[in-house]
Amino acid sequence: MEIPPPTYTVVILLLISMFSLLVLSMLKICQQRNLLKNSNDQLTNLTCLLSQLPNPVFQTDNRGTVCFTNETAVVFLKGLNVQLGEALPDIWMEELTSCISTGDCITKTIKPADRYLDVQIIPVTNPKVVNFYIRDITKERQKEQQLRLLNGVFEHTLEGIAIADCNGIIKKVNPSYMNITGFSAEEVVGKPVAIIKSGKHDDGFYLEIWKSLIENRHWQGEVWNRRKNGEIFPKWLSITGINGINGDLSHYVGVFHDMTEMKLREEKIEFHAYYDVLTDLPNRVLFSDRLNSAISHAKRYQQKLAVLVLDLDDFKHINDSLGHYIGDQLLKKVAQRLVKCFREEDTVARLGGDEFMMIIEEVKKVNDVVDIAVRIIASLSQTYFLEDNEIQTGASIGITIYPDDGIDINTLIKNADLAMYRAKDAGKSNYALFTKEMTEMVERRMTIEQNLRYALNRNEFQVYYQPKIDTRTLLITGTEALVRWNRPNGDLISPDDFIPLAEETGLILPLGQWVLKEACRQTKIWLDHGYYFMTVAVNLSAIQFQDRNLLPMVKQILHESGLPPEKLNLEITENILMMDVDAAKQIMRQLSELGIHISLDDFGTGYSSLLYLKQFPIDFIKIDKSFVKGLPHDLDDAAIAKTVLSLAKHLGLRVVAEGVETKEHWEFMLQNGCEEIQGFLFSKPLTNDSMSQLLTQGREMVLKSR
Ligand code: C2E
Ligand code: CA
Ligand code: CA
Repeated sequence: MEIPPPTYTVVILLLISMFSLLVLSMLKICQQRNLLKNSNDQLTNLTCLLSQLPNPVFQTDNRGTVCFTNETAVVFLKGLNVQLGEALPDIWMEELTSCISTGDCITKTIKPADRYLDVQIIPVTNPKVVNFYIRDITKERQKEQQLRLLNGVFEHTLEGIAIADCNGIIKKVNPSYMNITGFSAEEVVGKPVAIIKSGKHDDGFYLEIWKSLIENRHWQGEVWNRRKNGEIFPKWLSITGINGINGDLSHYVGVFHDMTEMKLREEKIEFHAYYDVLTDLPNRVLFSDRLNSAISHAKRYQQKLAVLVLDLDDFKHINDSLGHYIGDQLLKKVAQRLVKCFREEDTVARLGGDEFMMIIEEVKKVNDVVDIAVRIIASLSQTYFLEDNEIQTGASIGITIYPDDGIDINTLIKNADLAMYRAKDAGKSNYALFTKEMTEMVERRMTIEQNLRYALNRNEFQVYYQPKIDTRTLLITGTEALVRWNRPNGDLISPDDFIPLAEETGLILPLGQWVLKEACRQTKIWLDHGYYFMTVAVNLSAIQFQDRNLLPMVKQILHESGLPPEKLNLEITENILMMDVDAAKQIMRQLSELGIHISLDDFGTGYSSLLYLKQFPIDFIKIDKSFVKGLPHDLDDAAIAKTVLSLAKHLGLRVVAEGVETKEHWEFMLQNGCEEIQGFLFSKPLTNDSMSQLLTQGREMVLKSR
């Protein structure tokens, strides 16, 4: 069959269109395939991108179940004990819920353990998921904190800090820098570090600093700078070079502290190493130093120099009664007055307490030194007015001369000391020049002291007896026991030389006990020989009187010797009564109750009045021999002796006069009603044998034999 031509066309057209359609649909398929392929590639790319992200990224559904993670998030979630498909821990849920409900992103820093995490939570609406982006910011935070710390140090440290660039131009200063220098930051930033230069150091000094900085990047040392107000001050500075990021030197940091206070303190310490804190006078150290150089100088130029030691009289008493504050004020005043008595070039030092020492150089005549000593005593004796107190004191001065009395510092000081003690002994407000005899005296004293310890055990002591006589009848009434020390070398040492030493060393206790025992024993023998009138007076030292063992000791000796107590007379001195009035009264009463008599020895040498003494149970008063000596011609002595005698009579006390050496003494006592006398006129102290012999001759003391 024949197909008509238009039909062909239609068919052909149809075929063409069908083919086109086919091609088109083929093309579309291809296109779609390509598209699919492309988006797959993109997904792979994205996943790869996500998984390679250094920070954890993950996604959860709206209930918090993890549905996607990148690789770092796997590790991160593992840390939270969560895996893909599992829910986040509860603490994350709050943010998640609020994020979903508001649809807002949340950015938050959370701090698990010692890490800091920046968490960004972003809700996605379709599908309903939530993306988590985590960033570990621990390192940044740590750096930040470190910086804050450094800044705190910079701002608050007491050290001044300046940061300068490598050309020495100040870039930054801290508040302490401003405090110390007085400059504000605006005034110094942009200026060279030398802005606070003091001008005290030369160029070489700064060159050295720069040299060290270039070579070692470091320098430290003491520098003097100038404050804004012009004052220069010392500081301890440490400069360090700091490298920049590229490793090259970028800045210098200078850290310093102000040494002004420290220097002042050092100076003060140094000052007080050489000067007395109270008076600001040179102290012992500086004094020795000055004396040494003065001696060298005097030696070189063949000159004399004088060393003076001064001790205030009664200072201890003033200190004790008016208090240490007034005592200190007095010492200051004394120091001021002393300094005025000397030339600038002389040294006036305080060695401690109330002891001062002076050096006078280039002495021409010893008399010049004596004149100064006299002037000092006159000046120091003037009344002091201290806080409503009128104080009177004096000074005792010892003088020694180089090279006459000694050539070295120790000898000179020792000799001046000795002379000072001699001046004190001679009465207060006195001076004394050192003499060779003083050393001999001291040496003698030292030998006595050394030997005294063994003397008792070696039986070197002996009791002597001096008769006491009835003034009217001249009959012996008893004796006074007086101890003697017979040295093995034949010396007979007087008690005045060793009793004070025995008191100082405490030896007086066994010695006094021995004397009492011996005296009681001997007197009992005389009594037993028929000398019924015999009594014995034994001297009691203050130390013995204060000894708690006194009463039992006396009782025991009386008991052992068999001497009736009324035959014993104990001689005490006034100082005992001054110490502790009540205690003294009690002991005396106890002794009295035993039947023992008590005499007050050396009456008149102390300060007490007879009326004061009346309160004590005293039986006898012994007028001191120093008042007897001038009788009858010395009007003072006569007046004193008469007063004592008449008062004693009124008070019912018996009086014994000591030191009756002449007939006139005896007659005076006889005329003035003194009951008993004792003295060389009748007899010196005798050994017990001689005393026994005297007794056998008869009780009556025969005057005509004298
Ligand atoms: P004192 O108790 O005042 O004794 C009297 C002193 O005067 C004795 O000195 C005696 O020898 C001395 N004397 C006596 N008659 C005369 C005289 O007419 N003219 C002069 N110038 N002196 C005379 P002595 O024995 O050297 O004793 C001195 C001091 O030693 C005593 O003074 C006494 O305080 C103390 N003493 C003596 N023996 C002892 C003792 O056993 N114990 C204590 N604690 N002290 C004693
Ligand atoms: Ca006596
Ligand atoms: Ca006496």
